[in-house]
Amino acid sequence: MHRGPSPIPPADAAPPRADALLREARRRIDPVDAEWLLLHVLARPRAWLYAHGDAPVGADVAAAYAALVARRERGEPVAYLTGRRGFRHLDLQVTPDTLIPREDTERLVELALARLDPQAPARVADLGTGSGAIALAIASERPRAQVTATDRSPAALEVAAGNARALGLRNVAFVAGEWFAPLAGRRFDLVASNPPYIAAGDPHLTHGDLRFEPAMALASGVDGLDDIRRIVADAPGHLAEGGWLLLEHGHDQGAAVRALLRARGFDAVATAHDLEGRERVTMGRFAGGRRQPAAGPPAPTR
Ligand code: GLN
Repeated sequence: MHRGPSPIPPADAAPPRADALLREARRRIDPVDAEWLLLHVLARPRAWLYAHGDAPVGADVAAAYAALVARRERGEPVAYLTGRRGFRHLDLQVTPDTLIPREDTERLVELALARLDPQAPARVADLGTGSGAIALAIASERPRAQVTATDRSPAALEVAAGNARALGLRNVAFVAGEWFAPLAGRRFDLVASNPPYIAAGDPHLTHGDLRFEPAMALASGVDGLDDIRRIVADAPGHLAEGGWLLLEHGHDQGAAVRALLRARGFDAVATAHDLEGRERVTMGRFAGGRRQPAAGPPAPTR
């Protein structure tokens, strides 16, 4: 059993080969993670490893790799070790100040895009943007939309704004503050959020990647719904007539979120499933002052 990072070989030893380093790391951490981290320290694409796996690597690369493998062995998420995470077609910077974007949230974006006409301008808000994933995906896939992203963490907003710059996206703006607080007097055609939704005492918080992610992005009161309740309560003051609210939530919170939206006057309330078939995103349309009849026109399915 290996303990701690491999020692750096003495200067007169033969330089290690990339494939040998990888083989050794694969005995200690998940093989896919081992490859991902090696490509990261080598700054090489995956194909390079197959063509040049027998290439010697420098002692500095070997040492950097050993350090990352040791950190991964202690549980640090790969995305924080590489500082990168793919989200839809975007490559985003992530730091421990931001939640690591997940596939569940790609589903939320897909549902938002289906409600945004590519040809029409639209005002969109992403509340609690973190790395900017939702806001940037929508801004890039709906260039006519003007996206405003909020976060109460200035450190997260800096990461998100850096991602926007790196991607050359100009139709997204960032404002500091919690949920709708920095958006006083503004209304949107679509508001999306992946707020914290885990119950404060949930044992998942002490396992896996979640141990390393910002607690404020994960946990939300005894039933995990504190932030969702606040967002739903304030949403009608910030939605245009017929505007959509889309919320990611826990797999067992669908019924509760649907009830919150209906009680607040939303119609076309529905829940979509994640890739594992669990309830994950609930949405509703704000009918404005005049509620539409129960048998009103169906929701657009563009
Ligand atoms: N979906 C995440 C998880 O359970 C939690 C993200 C969140 O609270 N918004 O790992």
